[in-house]
Amino acid sequence: MITVQGFEGARVGVLGLGRSGLATCAALSAGGAEVCAWDDSQEARARAEASGITPVDLTRQQALEGLAALVVSPGIPHLYPAPHPVIAAATALGIPVDNDIGLFFRSLARIDWDLFDNPPKVIAVTGSNGKSTTTALIAHVLEAAGKPVQMAGNIGTGVLSIDPPGEGAVIVLELSSYQTELARALTPDIGVFTNLSPDHLDRHGGPGGYFAAKRRLFAEGGPDRAVIGVDEAEGRFLAMQMGEGAADHRVIRVSSGQKLGGMGWSVFARKGFLAEWRGGRQVASIDLRAMPGLPGAHNHQNACAAYAACRCLGLAPRLIEDALASFTGLPHRSQLVAEIGGVRYINDSKATNVDSAAKALQAFGRIRWIAGGLGKEGGIAALSPHLGGVVKAYLIGHSAREFALQLGAVPHELCETMGQAVARAHAEAEPGDVVLLAPAAASFDQYADFEKRGEHFIAEVTALAPA
Ligand code: ADP
Repeated sequence: MITVQGFEGARVGVLGLGRSGLATCAALSAGGAEVCAWDDSQEARARAEASGITPVDLTRQQALEGLAALVVSPGIPHLYPAPHPVIAAATALGIPVDNDIGLFFRSLARIDWDLFDNPPKVIAVTGSNGKSTTTALIAHVLEAAGKPVQMAGNIGTGVLSIDPPGEGAVIVLELSSYQTELARALTPDIGVFTNLSPDHLDRHGGPGGYFAAKRRLFAEGGPDRAVIGVDEAEGRFLAMQMGEGAADHRVIRVSSGQKLGGMGWSVFARKGFLAEWRGGRQVASIDLRAMPGLPGAHNHQNACAAYAACRCLGLAPRLIEDALASFTGLPHRSQLVAEIGGVRYINDSKATNVDSAAKALQAFGRIRWIAGGLGKEGGIAALSPHLGGVVKAYLIGHSAREFALQLGAVPHELCETMGQAVARAHAEAEPGDVVLLAPAAASFDQYADFEKRGEHFIAEVTALAPA
């Protein structure tokens, strides 16, 4: 556990008692704070009580008085579409509102770090898509290089639950826009921005707010090195702002598709090859085409970002290449579930927005596409340029009808449930086809989360396979 520093003897509020909230309570108590914890859900409060935390009703104004800070969970809106009443009340009283990420950064470095030859480093990854894959990839490469690594944040354990890092250790954090927007301290050694596409706009008051939340990772003190995906205007803007000019090697530009040259430092993938350029010349090249855990141009973008982050730590290109080749991928992201009668079944349940679904649709040919769920604003209208490979769509969930209208001439069928969609796609698929679950929608209409949706798909597919 990371003991929270700076609140000894102070009263600190914790709102939200899920996994990260409970870890926050423990880390604050260990640092000598008096914790006043609350969750609107009776069930969450009961769980907290079972782990020795007595809830304090923070919805009562008096309970907020004298709090040194209010630490909130990422799922609770702090500004848009409307702040949670407790956060609104704390904000009005001028109580600093923070989250576990902010506490982590202010508490990580300890006095005994003076004794290290090689103090611990933090790499933080943000962006709209590819965060988990890039984070896992970086951790995998560093592990292969023999470094002590811990993954935390949105992936792995909560940030405050990690073990205090030792000599030469690296912590790789996956941070969402909710987390970067609120954290009062954000000081990674290396910041990685994968890409930007519209998502969670209700929580950020539109696309500008969403970008502003993500770019805070690069604003508060600024990382020593910034690895920035420049395939969108926002990434190009950020790279320009971070650098002192085109030859500033503090910024590493990353692209999937564009050749980046010039005098700066860049890593890009084209036609399946990763290239690193520095100071106007190519310094390394890696063939990504046969790497089993990294199919498609989107994963090549992740590979470039992970490669760049590891190069910042001084790892050799050949070592990184070997580690990329042994990466097996994460569940629910371009995951090959089975091949039955020449048909491949791919689980990309994590494709919860249009951009990630577009990437999945581009990564395969002859697709029987299972889509739907709780659609985002605009539905799948933006996917029309990417439907060339879709033989037929099998639509499920709340947005099935809306998606059907937007598909127009693309063959489709309303299936409602996953079981029906898999059965229909299986019945109609021919050898060489890919049955792809890439919903372009959230899962909450039918499932607790995208993992449960992916697991259901896997169970249905596994039931098809001959014993
Ligand atoms: P995040 O943690 O940002 O949600 P993941 O690595 O979990 O990212 O991937 C989320 C979804 O986006 C998956 O469907 C995955 O296949 C897809 N994806 C992965 N990397 C990228 C990328 N670089 N660009 C677009 N989509 C991606």
